[in-house]
Amino acid sequence: MDKRDRYRGALIGEAAGDALGYTVEFLREPQIFQRFGPAGITDYVLDEQGVARFSDDTQMTLYTAEGLLFAHTRGALRGIMASISYYMSFMYQDWYRTQTEDFSERTRCAWVSGFPELFARRAPGTTCMTACATGANGTLESPINDSKGCGGIMRVAPVGLFYSKSFSNMTRHMTYADIQLQGAEIAALTHGHELGWLPAGAFAQIVSMIVHEDSPLPEAVAAASATLSEAFPKARMIGALQEIMERALSLASSGLSDLDAIHELGEGWVAEETLAIGVLCALRHQGDFAGAIAAASNHNGDSDSTAALAGTIIGAQIGYEAIPHRFIEPLELHEAIVEIADDLSTGCGHLSEFAPLDRAWAHKYIHHDYVQWRREGSKY
Ligand SMILES: [Mg+2]
Repeated sequence: MDKRDRYRGALIGEAAGDALGYTVEFLREPQIFQRFGPAGITDYVLDEQGVARFSDDTQMTLYTAEGLLFAHTRGALRGIMASISYYMSFMYQDWYRTQTEDFSERTRCAWVSGFPELFARRAPGTTCMTACATGANGTLESPINDSKGCGGIMRVAPVGLFYSKSFSNMTRHMTYADIQLQGAEIAALTHGHELGWLPAGAFAQIVSMIVHEDSPLPEAVAAASATLSEAFPKARMIGALQEIMERALSLASSGLSDLDAIHELGEGWVAEETLAIGVLCALRHQGDFAGAIAAASNHNGDSDSTAALAGTIIGAQIGYEAIPHRFIEPLELHEAIVEIADDLSTGCGHLSEFAPLDRAWAHKYIHHDYVQWRREGSKY
């Protein structure tokens, strides 16, 4: 399989799971099954325009992707860059502004803020909103709150796409421990509890191993679990995360129904449960994209985030071309999501201060006005 197909599959899979689950995020099981029948929700509920809308999970994931590319574009062209988290906090503050004001094009940091669709408010997480209002600048050492909500993990898939142990390119080569650290630092910008950012680190490694090394999911989960203590030698909650990840693996092969197995793990509002439920549903529906995101949507808990994680995993495994069309065509901004996945796949290796600049790339990751530039016919 073309590697780019996996990047696209992961990001479209994330958005598709989010869009399916968002419809039932705040419904309890009796309401879900009463409204959608015994199988629960299995297809998008489209709005009046025929569009399947995604929520804050996908919005913030797109900002994460842009943050990585923004940072590394600066690094490639200037030979120096600050930490990824430094750039990422600007991205998340831009997302926050889309949720709270109609800010002018000239003051935007992120080119994706040029999409009017991203200004929609779809139940943004309170922790992310509060943290972004004050700068989104938490670190592992200086937590800004005690939240372990899933707002950190739900947005870090691009880290696993961008970095790999198997890259020889210096900017994109990372050990597993460093990939975890990068994922965790990005989550810690807004989520201070260890279980708010440890699962984000683990998830970044899992995505990287699937996309770049074609690792089977149980192997990737076990490897991520084993890397935790190397990546975070001072963390105290590693045992709790390892325990629930192991439980997800054993429940996957148990005789329980999907729903009963999910109940054993929790509701997914907190990050370690989100990861466990996402992994469980992906494992129980190997190769079956529709089945995995439906299983991860139809429960009492945080359906959009658990289905977003399951969708990321399955999408990365089977690739974009194998995702059923009915989950792609009506999906909000699906062409832009594919373009961003392709940019993550290209990386910044083609950039050099001595080479002519790719104009589209410059309008995305230097001038941040790509949407307007495209709209005006690429004249300037
Ligand atoms: Mg959401």
